[in-house]
Amino acid sequence: MTPAVIPPSQRLDLPWCDRKIARFKFRVALFMRRGMTEDQAKALGDRLSARDADLDERRICCECSNFQRSRTCALRLPTSPLQLACCHGFDFVKP
Ligand code: SF4
Repeated sequence: MTPAVIPPSQRLDLPWCDRKIARFKFRVALFMRRGMTEDQAKALGDRLSARDADLDERRICCECSNFQRSRTCALRLPTSPLQLACCHGFDFVKP
């Protein structure tokens, strides 16, 4: 039997579970601590929820534990604060 595959455009319409809501709230708080307004943080949180739904493995520096207040990388890698990219040093900020 072939597993059901939901096209990316339909994944966004699925209702959010408690885990997804908690992840969104955590990200918004993190982005606000990192200098964004609430609206900016929520917009970015939405964008990353869509990324998750698409199973896109690219990340942004703003959600990485190596991203510093100076907006530089603790591992001295070139940063991409808001642009999705693949980074071998990425490490999620944990709640
Ligand atoms: S490790 Fe990669 S994703 Fe994390 S802050 Fe450095 S450059 Fe950005």
